[in-house]
Amino acid sequence: MYLSELSEYFKQLESISSRLTLRDILIELIEKLDEKEAQVVSYFLQGRLVPPFINLEFNIAEKMINRYITERFDITSSKELADLRLKYKDLPGVYEFLATQKRPNASLQNMTILDTYNALTEIALTEGAGSITKKLSLLDSLLRKIDPTSGKYILRLIQGRLRLGVSVRSMLDALAYKESRQNGTDIKVIKAVFDKAYGLTSDIGYITSVYKAKGFEAIKQVKFRAGIPIAPQLAEREKTLKKCLERIPFPLVDPKMDGLRGQIHIFDRYYFEQHTFEDRVWAKIYTHLLNTRENTLLSSSTRFFVKIFSRNLEDLTPMFPEITEWVNKYGEIFFRKIEKDKPLVAVLDSELIGYNENTGEFFGFQVTMTRRRKYGIKEAMQDVPIRAFVFDMMVYGDELIDHPLKERRKIAEEVFADLPSESTVILNTAHKFYENKKAHQKILEEVQAIFYDYVSRGVEGIMIKDPDAPYEPGVRKFSWIKFKRAMKKELADTLDVVVLGYYYGKGRLATLGIGGLLAGVYDQDNDTFVTIAKIGTGFSDNDWLQIKKILDDLAVEKKPARVEVAKELVPDVWVYPKLVIEVSADEITKSPIHTAKVALRFPRFERIREDKTPDEATTLKEVYELANLT
Ligand code: ATP
Repeated sequence: MYLSELSEYFKQLESISSRLTLRDILIELIEKLDEKEAQVVSYFLQGRLVPPFINLEFNIAEKMINRYITERFDITSSKELADLRLKYKDLPGVYEFLATQKRPNASLQNMTILDTYNALTEIALTEGAGSITKKLSLLDSLLRKIDPTSGKYILRLIQGRLRLGVSVRSMLDALAYKESRQNGTDIKVIKAVFDKAYGLTSDIGYITSVYKAKGFEAIKQVKFRAGIPIAPQLAEREKTLKKCLERIPFPLVDPKMDGLRGQIHIFDRYYFEQHTFEDRVWAKIYTHLLNTRENTLLSSSTRFFVKIFSRNLEDLTPMFPEITEWVNKYGEIFFRKIEKDKPLVAVLDSELIGYNENTGEFFGFQVTMTRRRKYGIKEAMQDVPIRAFVFDMMVYGDELIDHPLKERRKIAEEVFADLPSESTVILNTAHKFYENKKAHQKILEEVQAIFYDYVSRGVEGIMIKDPDAPYEPGVRKFSWIKFKRAMKKELADTLDVVVLGYYYGKGRLATLGIGGLLAGVYDQDNDTFVTIAKIGTGFSDNDWLQIKKILDDLAVEKKPARVEVAKELVPDVWVYPKLVIEVSADEITKSPIHTAKVALRFPRFERIREDKTPDEATTLKEVYELANLT
């Protein structure tokens, strides 16, 4: 397909306001693409060039694009550019207008989607001295070949602002719907197969292309690959320990550390190079990044690569060099228990938490979060060294995902028995109530005692897990139940809500230009955002300013297609659903106005959740569970 045709689809996606139309457009588009194009387009639709676990940035600042436009179109006054910007909303919009006016038709070519992908890859991978000039000259030659509207979208993609309202969920739903229409099987069954495949690969482009190339049966065969994250399993909540134990009478109980989720992959680099890439269009990009950036952390004597992925599948590897150091030191011992003919590949699920080596105490969540940074890593590592508390092992030579937790735990214990117990990567404590089964009342008393003991030592709470359950990527269910200190408040837990718009505010806040947020939760069944609260308390002036800055960058002219809001709540400024914030509230009550059909009573802002994407915010189903409405 040519880029110009794809741009027409982008235009349609931008203008629609119904979720069902969105799905139909996606299905029609997918039908027209071949397998490789489908892969590329799946990333483009998310406003990206690669899946989330690859850290690729274009590094072309807004002011460079500004300069490019002024020079190319001979704009002499900054007022002229400012006026155009006001009229056409953003720089790419200005570009489209100017290029339409002044375009020399002669050089236009029919660029295909794949050619465009290659050109963009080259721009992104240009690094080092003089790279800005080179990037701009590559960009210039690309833009001169494509029509002005395509140019606008390409510029938005480069700026990370191609917001077409399509999530990974929208794509998975469209694929499932298409398949269900074709083969007549229940949509729920088909969705579960696509969800599982996505959970194992975290790569929507790959899923779409496998489906295009080999059909639905092949989706059932999709496998995990070293160096590509598995979607983390999630936990449910329960109000009392008694209820937790009614669900899981003989559990495994873990302390729940309050840090940062870290999925650690350790793998033999030769095996990786041969097995991971298959037909991925981003293979070149991944290898380049691995060889140039992260290799510097590995000692030349080790055969292993390390990768650390966050809760939302981002690559955190460069932020935690101490884990790479640990693998440099202990990699060989770590793999000693793998049988001879098996690949040296392991995946660990862990919580990364700041640890004060002088006092032996853990740092709080906010302090640990300071390690999530791009610069000043060496200093941060000295101030806040981290430890990884391993609580699960999904791969060790073999894939262990379908094995029961108690077996995964046993293997992990055997592996860690050979390793130092005071080190950067250590095994989390586990209390096993499945080994010698006692009377229920006795177990309840013991779990209570464990909970109070941890809480009194500053630990956030405990995790109660079903020892017979497999690891279920990306799934939230009662095989893991979190029980925290905070659960003793009126409402069992805080909620992570998505900001859908803001109000200007009255009185003092009017001077800040923002005084209230319209917040929603994710309705997973319909792939929409429904509203649940207007939030105006809990913010400092600084919070308001910071949030306004983020939201102004996300502002859109009209209600996005996947957002459902009642007339009475229409905000002064709509925003693209992206920012996730954590809020607490007294209770959840029924609401005639909010599209969630429930509302938060006395909602208070707690903090911004940078580590969550909008689809990972609290779901409507969870809200109903918290409110006891299910
Ligand atoms: P969620 O991840 O469930 O959407 P959240 O991000 O608000 O919610 P919490 O409610 O605090 O997080 O609880 C889940 C998180 O607890 C996990 O994602 C993981 O990072 C962390 N965690 C800490 N210790 C453990 C453990 N032993 N087992 C599983 N998860 C743990």
